[in-house]
Amino acid sequence: MFQAPRGTQDILPEDAAYWLFVERTARDWAARYGYGEIRTPTFEETGLFLRGVGDSTDIVEKEMYTFQDKGGGELTLRPEGTAPIVRAYIEHGMASRPQPVRLFSFVNCFRYDRPQRGRYREFHQWDCEAIGEIDPLVDAELIILLWRVYQALGLRDLTLQLNSIGDARCRPAYLERLREYYRPLVATVCPDCRRRYETNPLRLLDCKNAACQAAIAGAPRLLDYLCAECAEHFAALRAYLADADLPVEINPRLVRGLDYYTKTVFEVWPAEAGAQSALGGGGRYDGLVEQLGGRPTPAIGFATGIERIILNLKAQSIEPPLLPGPRVYVAHLGDRPRREAMRLADALRQQGVPTLVAVGGRSMRAQLRHANALGAPWVVVIGEDELARGVVQVKNMRGGESVELAPQAAVERLAAGG
Ligand code: AMP
Repeated sequence: MFQAPRGTQDILPEDAAYWLFVERTARDWAARYGYGEIRTPTFEETGLFLRGVGDSTDIVEKEMYTFQDKGGGELTLRPEGTAPIVRAYIEHGMASRPQPVRLFSFVNCFRYDRPQRGRYREFHQWDCEAIGEIDPLVDAELIILLWRVYQALGLRDLTLQLNSIGDARCRPAYLERLREYYRPLVATVCPDCRRRYETNPLRLLDCKNAACQAAIAGAPRLLDYLCAECAEHFAALRAYLADADLPVEINPRLVRGLDYYTKTVFEVWPAEAGAQSALGGGGRYDGLVEQLGGRPTPAIGFATGIERIILNLKAQSIEPPLLPGPRVYVAHLGDRPRREAMRLADALRQQGVPTLVAVGGRSMRAQLRHANALGAPWVVVIGEDELARGVVQVKNMRGGESVELAPQAAVERLAAGG
């Protein structure tokens, strides 16, 4: 027996209502903020992620699905959505469009991670990116968009974790200070942190290992080392977010798993758990476009996991709008009635009415039971007798009564709601 590969999931029809609810809400709000949809390939040249995500990140070090295709190309299933979108921005000369270019995408992502609740090897993100503008107003709008979508979905008890991690001007001095601070502590921290101390010291701050928490608590804060430009940017952003009534928590320990971030970083956390269960997050990446071969271009983006949103909707007992089931079930007995059933069903569907025709050779009783099990509120019954008289029976499964109508009249009546 085959099973879905570890860390992947089938999304069954009963879950589709959740997926559509999230996707429709996200699309609706993206349009209100002027974001247009982009779709990029599922795989890219491996080099894009080495360059774009950073080679000392967990993603690049341990998690990428990388393979060689039959032509010898080095390819990787996308582990995230930003680098491909930036690649497309550069490739299609979007710098010559009105800036910022605001883009969203629904992407499936692949990371070879340890599967657990809310953490999968294939998962789905809603990604938004605003490329080509440094104004903190853009940061604020992007974050507010994400927040409004969570609100529109009905999610409660979320917090917005916000930090600034500076830029190429102020961060190097801070990292020096951080290394100095950690020098006498290196022997006490976990093996991962010993490595981070050498390769990616900022990531020391978001280690989850209990042994490292004391060191983190005493570490110098990047917020105290921001240059004037980064500090002003951060202050302006905070003011916009306060005006929008977002419950912001400044979190000086918040750094993100990807190397490309500058200035603004943020995550949205559910009430009960920490960063391991972040619903979404993102930040500014003013260096990435240039790093991928474009002209220096500021940008900001976020990604939010669809599976995690749905887990939280379910945990908070939020029901998505019901998807329409069949409205009409056409029951029939005999060869000619079966053909009339097909004709009538086709007419109903052309009028927009979701309709099923009984299949196989079931008895009329079995057909009515079937209609009931499928939850169809209306059944049309066609037998030889009805056919001979030029009528069909239209039966209301909720109220029980039935009426006889000419087929065309039945179609009109059912198309008008029954
Ligand atoms: P990241 O690109 O790591 O910042 O992730 C952005 C969002 O994607 C997270 O906040 C999660 O909602 C979701 N996410 C990241 N990794 C996974 C995963 N392995 N499984 C499910 N969702 C994930």
